[in-house]
Amino acid sequence: MLAELQLFALAAAPEEICGILFGREGRVSGYRAARNVADDPCRHFEIDPAILIAAERAQRGGGEPILGYYHSHPAGTVTPSITDAESAAPDGRVWLILNGQDAAAWHSADNGEIYGRFIAMELDCSGAKGQTAAK
Ligand SMILES: [Zn+2]
Repeated sequence: MLAELQLFALAAAPEEICGILFGREGRVSGYRAARNVADDPCRHFEIDPAILIAAERAQRGGGEPILGYYHSHPAGTVTPSITDAESAAPDGRVWLILNGQDAAAWHSADNGEIYGRFIAMELDCSGAKGQTAAK
Protein backbone atom coordinates (compact mmCIF):
# COMPACT_ATOMS: atom_id res chain seq x y z
CA MET A 1 0.00 0.00 0.00
CA LEU A 2 2.76 2.44 0.93
CA ALA A 3 4.61 1.78 -2.35
CA GLU A 4 1.37 2.42 -4.22
CA LEU A 5 0.79 5.71 -2.42
CA GLN A 6 4.37 6.79 -3.14
CA LEU A 7 3.72 6.24 -6.85
CA PHE A 8 0.52 8.29 -6.66
CA ALA A 9 2.41 11.02 -4.83
CA LEU A 10 5.08 11.14 -7.52
CA ALA A 11 2.50 11.14 -10.31
CA ALA A 12 0.52 13.99 -8.78
CA ALA A 13 3.51 16.21 -7.94
CA PRO A 14 3.74 19.17 -7.64
CA GLU A 15 0.24 18.80 -6.22
CA GLU A 16 -0.29 17.11 -2.88
CA ILE A 17 -2.33 13.92 -2.75
CA CYS A 18 -4.57 13.06 0.18
CA GLY A 19 -6.97 10.47 1.47
CA ILE A 20 -8.37 8.59 4.41
CA LEU A 21 -6.79 5.67 6.28
CA PHE A 22 -8.95 2.96 7.79
CA GLY A 23 -7.98 0.56 10.53
CA ARG A 24 -7.38 0.53 14.24
CA GLU A 25 -4.60 0.67 16.82
CA GLY A 26 -1.76 1.70 14.54
CA ARG A 27 -2.62 -0.86 11.90
CA VAL A 28 -3.91 0.23 8.50
CA SER A 29 -6.48 -2.03 6.87
CA GLY A 30 -7.16 0.10 3.82
CA TYR A 31 -7.26 3.58 2.38
CA ARG A 32 -9.48 5.69 0.24
CA ALA A 33 -7.96 8.28 -2.07
CA ALA A 34 -9.72 11.64 -2.10
CA ARG A 35 -9.63 14.65 -4.33
CA ASN A 36 -7.46 17.45 -2.93
CA VAL A 37 -9.90 20.36 -2.96
CA ALA A 38 -7.52 22.94 -1.43
CA ASP A 39 -7.37 26.33 -3.16
CA ASP A 40 -3.65 25.80 -3.75
CA PRO A 41 -3.15 22.01 -3.97
CA CYS A 42 0.59 22.50 -4.56
CA ARG A 43 0.97 23.92 -1.06
CA HIS A 44 -1.90 22.53 0.97
CA PHE A 45 -4.36 19.70 1.08
CA GLU A 46 -8.00 19.47 1.92
CA ILE A 47 -9.74 16.11 1.65
CA ASP A 48 -12.90 16.25 -0.46
CA PRO A 49 -15.56 16.73 2.24
CA ALA A 50 -17.96 14.37 0.47
CA ILE A 51 -15.46 11.52 0.95
CA LEU A 52 -14.94 12.43 4.60
CA ILE A 53 -18.65 12.60 5.32
CA ALA A 54 -19.25 9.27 3.60
CA ALA A 55 -16.46 7.64 5.62
CA GLU A 56 -17.74 9.08 8.93
CA ARG A 57 -21.24 7.90 8.10
CA ALA A 58 -20.03 4.41 7.17
CA GLN A 59 -18.09 4.22 10.43
CA ARG A 60 -21.17 5.18 12.47
CA GLY A 61 -23.07 2.49 10.62
CA GLY A 62 -20.61 -0.15 11.77
CA GLY A 63 -18.20 0.13 8.85
CA GLU A 64 -14.46 0.26 8.98
CA PRO A 65 -13.15 2.75 11.55
CA ILE A 66 -11.31 5.82 10.33
CA LEU A 67 -7.74 5.59 11.58
CA GLY A 68 -6.57 8.90 10.13
CA TYR A 69 -5.42 10.66 7.00
CA TYR A 70 -2.56 10.67 4.56
CA HIS A 71 -1.15 13.41 2.38
CA SER A 72 2.01 14.14 0.47
CA HIS A 73 4.70 16.79 0.66
CA PRO A 74 5.94 16.59 -2.95
CA ALA A 75 8.90 18.90 -2.40
CA GLY A 76 9.49 18.52 1.29
CA THR A 77 10.25 16.36 4.25
CA VAL A 78 7.72 14.00 5.78
CA THR A 79 7.56 16.02 8.99
CA PRO A 80 4.24 17.79 9.61
CA SER A 81 4.18 21.45 8.61
CA ILE A 82 2.91 24.21 10.86
CA THR A 83 -0.18 24.34 8.63
CA ASP A 84 -0.74 20.64 9.29
CA ALA A 85 -0.50 21.30 13.02
CA GLU A 86 -2.97 24.18 12.80
CA SER A 87 -5.50 22.13 10.89
CA ALA A 88 -5.21 18.97 13.00
CA ALA A 89 -7.65 18.41 15.82
CA PRO A 90 -6.10 16.80 18.92
CA ASP A 91 -8.25 13.75 18.33
CA GLY A 92 -5.61 11.01 18.27
CA ARG A 93 -6.00 10.32 14.60
CA VAL A 94 -3.05 9.23 12.51
CA TRP A 95 -1.38 11.53 10.02
CA LEU A 96 0.69 9.67 7.44
CA ILE A 97 2.92 11.95 5.38
CA LEU A 98 4.84 10.82 2.32
CA ASN A 99 6.95 12.50 -0.34
CA GLY A 100 7.33 9.88 -3.05
CA GLN A 101 10.28 8.31 -1.26
CA ASP A 102 9.98 8.50 2.48
CA ALA A 103 7.00 8.21 4.77
CA ALA A 104 6.37 8.94 8.43
CA ALA A 105 3.38 8.60 10.69
CA TRP A 106 2.28 10.85 13.50
CA HIS A 107 -0.72 10.98 15.74
CA SER A 108 -2.37 14.18 16.81
CA ALA A 109 -2.40 15.03 20.48
CA ASP A 110 -2.87 17.91 22.87
CA ASN A 111 0.81 18.35 23.68
CA GLY A 112 2.69 16.81 20.80
CA GLU A 113 6.42 17.21 20.21
CA ILE A 114 5.91 18.80 16.75
CA TYR A 115 4.26 22.25 16.92
CA GLY A 116 2.48 21.05 20.04
CA ARG A 117 0.28 18.77 18.00
CA PHE A 118 1.99 15.65 16.62
CA ILE A 119 3.75 12.67 18.15
CA ALA A 120 5.78 10.25 15.99
CA MET A 121 4.45 6.69 15.90
CA GLU A 122 4.87 3.33 14.26
CA LEU A 123 2.26 2.54 11.63
CA ASP A 124 1.75 -0.94 10.25
CA CYS A 125 0.64 -0.77 6.62
CA SER A 126 1.56 -4.34 5.76
CA GLY A 127 -2.00 -5.68 5.73
CA ALA A 128 -3.57 -2.76 3.90
CA LYS A 129 -5.31 -2.79 0.59
CA GLY A 130 -6.13 0.29 -1.40
CA GLN A 131 -9.53 1.64 -2.25
CA THR A 132 -11.33 -1.25 -0.65
CA ALA A 133 -12.47 0.59 2.45
CA ALA A 134 -15.67 2.58 2.92
CA LYS A 135 -17.59 0.77 0.25
ZN1 LIG B 1 1.43 18.59 5.23
